[in-house]
Amino acid sequence: MADADLTSSELKEQFKAAVTRYDLQVLMRGAIAFVSFLMMMALLACVVKYFQAEIHHGLSMKSGTEDCPEAVSPILLIPIVLLSVCFPALFLYRQVKRLRQSTAPHCPFCHVSLGQHASRTGAMATGFCPACQQKMFEGELDSGAVAVEKYEKAKSEFRRYIRFTFSASMGALLIVLPVYLWLYFTNQLPGKNPPSLAEILVLFPLLFSLVPLGLWWVGKLSVRDQQNIRDLFRAGERKYGIIEARRSEQESQQ
Ligand SMILES: [Zn+2]
Repeated sequence: MADADLTSSELKEQFKAAVTRYDLQVLMRGAIAFVSFLMMMALLACVVKYFQAEIHHGLSMKSGTEDCPEAVSPILLIPIVLLSVCFPALFLYRQVKRLRQSTAPHCPFCHVSLGQHASRTGAMATGFCPACQQKMFEGELDSGAVAVEKYEKAKSEFRRYIRFTFSASMGALLIVLPVYLWLYFTNQLPGKNPPSLAEILVLFPLLFSLVPLGLWWVGKLSVRDQQNIRDLFRAGERKYGIIEARRSEQESQQ
């Protein structure tokens, strides 16, 4: 059946089914890439272990660690991990690229692949194609006004949320840091190798800002999604309005 023969709701069902199929295929390729990464790492580790003496000699490095002088130099872990990541990452990249063309949902008008996260969330929410702005089906949002409202709400919630997380983290730092410094200056820090003063002063603020920074990043992405949806709605409605105006103009001329 040609795309043109399908109704709007059939197109929407087809779009949703393609999204599910595409996600599943990407997940499967991801699992294959992960397993090959582990296998590659195990294989390389065995090779390095077997030719340990030759490799250490060839690269003129000292073998082992302080606790275990016979062991493989820990520096060799870096090339092992890098080499193991290379091929599975390349495989995954090429596979995802291919799946975007074959399995991912496509616009029935301009046939552009809408597999990418931003494209498909925009399409699902508005029903408009992000590339040609044609109306493919009824989107999940009723109108552009709803999209604007959702965007404004997401933005203000994001600001409130970040302010709260940031204040909570800084508050916790203001409690923990003086306690730790007091323990440091009175030589009461627990553990065999307690951190130095410089480590405390650098690591603690860094550690406490990681959570708000991570949340800020995630929140930013979700606000951007809402912004894309709002912009797509505007562009789609504008185009739809122009098409409708042209049609009524033609009808009045006939
Ligand atoms: Zn299109």
